[in-house]
Amino acid sequence: MNSFWLENINKIEGSGILENDTNADVCIIGAGICGLTTAYYLCKEGYRVIVIDKENIANGVTGHTTAKITSQHGLIYSYLSKEYGINFAKKYYEANEQAIKNIEEIIQKNSIECDFEKKNSYIYTEKEEELDKIKEEIEALKNISHLENFKAENIDLPFKTLGGVEFKNQAEFNPLKYIKGLVKYILNKKGRIYENTLCIDVKKENEEFTIFTETNKIYAKCVVIATQYPFIKIPGLYFLKMYQASSYVIGVQTNEKLPEGMYINVEEPKLSFRTAIDKEKNKILLIGGAGHKTGKKITYEETYGILEKRAKELYKDAKIKYKWSTRDAITLDKIPYIGELSSIYENMYVATGFNKWGMTSSNVAANIIVEKIKGNGSIYDEIFKARRFKPIENKGEVKNMIVDSVKGIIGDRIKSEKIEIDEIKNNSGGIVDIDGEKVGIYKNEEGKIYKIDPVCTHLGCILEWNDVDKTWDCPCHGSRFDKYGKNIYGPAIKNIKEKI
Ligand SMILES: Cc1cc2nc3c(=O)[nH]c(=O)nc-3n(C[C@H](O)[C@H](O)[C@H](O)COP(=O)(O)OP(=O)(O)OC[C@H]3O[C@@H](n4cnc5c(N)ncnc54)[C@H](O)[C@@H]3O)c2cc1C
Repeated sequence: MNSFWLENINKIEGSGILENDTNADVCIIGAGICGLTTAYYLCKEGYRVIVIDKENIANGVTGHTTAKITSQHGLIYSYLSKEYGINFAKKYYEANEQAIKNIEEIIQKNSIECDFEKKNSYIYTEKEEELDKIKEEIEALKNISHLENFKAENIDLPFKTLGGVEFKNQAEFNPLKYIKGLVKYILNKKGRIYENTLCIDVKKENEEFTIFTETNKIYAKCVVIATQYPFIKIPGLYFLKMYQASSYVIGVQTNEKLPEGMYINVEEPKLSFRTAIDKEKNKILLIGGAGHKTGKKITYEETYGILEKRAKELYKDAKIKYKWSTRDAITLDKIPYIGELSSIYENMYVATGFNKWGMTSSNVAANIIVEKIKGNGSIYDEIFKARRFKPIENKGEVKNMIVDSVKGIIGDRIKSEKIEIDEIKNNSGGIVDIDGEKVGIYKNEEGKIYKIDPVCTHLGCILEWNDVDKTWDCPCHGSRFDKYGKNIYGPAIKNIKEKI
């Protein structure tokens, strides 16, 4: 099933498919909220811009988000204050608060009808043992902004909460209606947005980049990698610094009164709530969460099941009208990577690792990158610097990343459970051993067998069958392929080989 947003909007049209070699001042790879916001600001400054996307516009994470526009990124401020100091935390807060204002300004200036609404945002807990974390966050926030109180007194949720943090004047919108407005502006300014145009490589010769698609070349002075997770392995080595985490969302209809704000909890499993209006003007409650590292073996009960159970506990008449999953790139130090991709290529920029908070972070990224292209700096450069080499404190995560990545690179395969072909049910899959070789098997509803080489085309990790979404997922860096082996999302860009 498509996401709520994709189900409730007609396709957003760009400039078609790229059919000839061409050139531009800036080529942006990725037409999600990040790439298109960057294109918006560059067009405003008079640059000749081309955006390319391997899919349709905003069909990536942006088309599957929950679209809360907030600087409340979980309990980030106590963490940042402790790790980097109050001034650092303050700048992170200000950058994201400014992003909320920028988004509102874009909407107002371009009269974009995107259901933008100012709302309060809450982090809450139902558990006594989490209350200290809430208190710490409020204390950290008091040092960052003296304008607000941040303590949530009464949280308007249909169950008992023990405490929470309140951010006033945050917002929500329909991300695809907003994207439609950005696209209209970019095309009016003679920017070009080519869909179904996969970038397979980028090379630099003299002062110019050549961006290779499957059929054509684009020549540009600057390149922006806005592909959510960079598909370029070297330079940058982002696959050593990030992983992907999947989350699930359901859209619930009920006759009961729904909460007015935006909410997320502290404890696991994570649950996030907001409402949105569908085409028929019904108010739908979006419940998101139940996340895990992409590629982990999971069941329906551990994912959509958790969300559905909660919806039915809260609203007896709950009808589940939408159901979808998506993922985001997670950085090991919880801060996005924004700026120069590496020290090797000048004028090549990246924005990634939004940690499931890309509505504001993508606006922060677009502004930093546009200032760099103009030859200026930004007061936020050092906070988000993509080339940072911070000694990473989260030793457990670092170890996991390195072990997984090295396994992928040197070809040491992750062991998979042994199963026989007969054990695989219809409309399901798994990896079997045939004559000493690993083969990925998918059986369709009628029992017809499709065989693939279960090796990720990014760095060679053995894939996992995901029986919830019926996909092949990479446990190392989170690439995903459909049941027949077609690449759905990266960092891999190639399909999996069929096995004859
Ligand atoms: C369940 C969930 C809920 C979320 N809710 C929120 C929220 O409430 N608030 C919030 O702030 N954030 C939220 N996020 C995060 C936010 O949605 C993302 O951070 C943001 O949408 C990422 O935007 P993007 O433009 O970087 O990526 P995308 O939207 O994925 O865009 C990247 C584009 O690049 C294209 N691409 C990739 N590789 C290539 C290639 N080789 N060639 C050409 N094109 C390519 C893809 O097709 C894609 O369209 C959520 C995330 C999840 C998982």
